[in-house]
Amino acid sequence: MYESVLEHRLRPGTRLPEERLAAVFGVSRAKVRKVLARFEHEQLIEVQPNRGAQVAEPTVEQSADTLEARRVIEPAIMRALAERATQESIELLRKHTESEYDAVARRDKHSIIRLAGEFHNLAADLAGNSALARTMRELSALTCLTILLYNAPTAAACLPDDHVHITDAIEAGDGSRAAELMLRHLEEVEKSLVFAPTIEEPDLEEIFGLTKTHGKGA
Ligand SMILES: [Zn+2]
Repeated sequence: MYESVLEHRLRPGTRLPEERLAAVFGVSRAKVRKVLARFEHEQLIEVQPNRGAQVAEPTVEQSADTLEARRVIEPAIMRALAERATQESIELLRKHTESEYDAVARRDKHSIIRLAGEFHNLAADLAGNSALARTMRELSALTCLTILLYNAPTAAACLPDDHVHITDAIEAGDGSRAAELMLRHLEEVEKSLVFAPTIEEPDLEEIFGLTKTHGKGA
């Protein structure tokens, strides 16, 4: 489900009825409840007494908070990473940006969006601070929801070129430059947002890869 958010398959406001999720994933409702509780804790979903769970719809203010938090922690992640990066870390980052370009070449919109977000998660993982990495994961998913709600539909928020330049600075051990490039990159993401939401009603079976040929009974 985290991936579905990152891939923009699961849109803000999507309702997540326990029994349907249990059927879609072929697991017990207890298991579904456990996962939903975790996502609620991470603010990815909202649970309302009479409506049940739905994918969170960050407000303009919450979105601004998310991006502000990223502008605070990601430059710090960049500095840490530039200091600690091994050859292996650099190779992982390079491999990741290559897969971003592959997705762009394939025009695979869902992969482009997911991989763009995951670059930031990978960088945080490699920086070696588990608390920052965990926070980054939450902020990435919240950013995806924000972009879904507020981005101009055609805007590509997170470009592989930026990620390559950031990786170059990390490889050169230049933490200040990596931090500065990241800050500029995040400012570009924020600039691409238009705070006027448009939402369409999604379909859970379709999102999770089930066809609708047998009707909506699932
Ligand atoms: Zn990015």
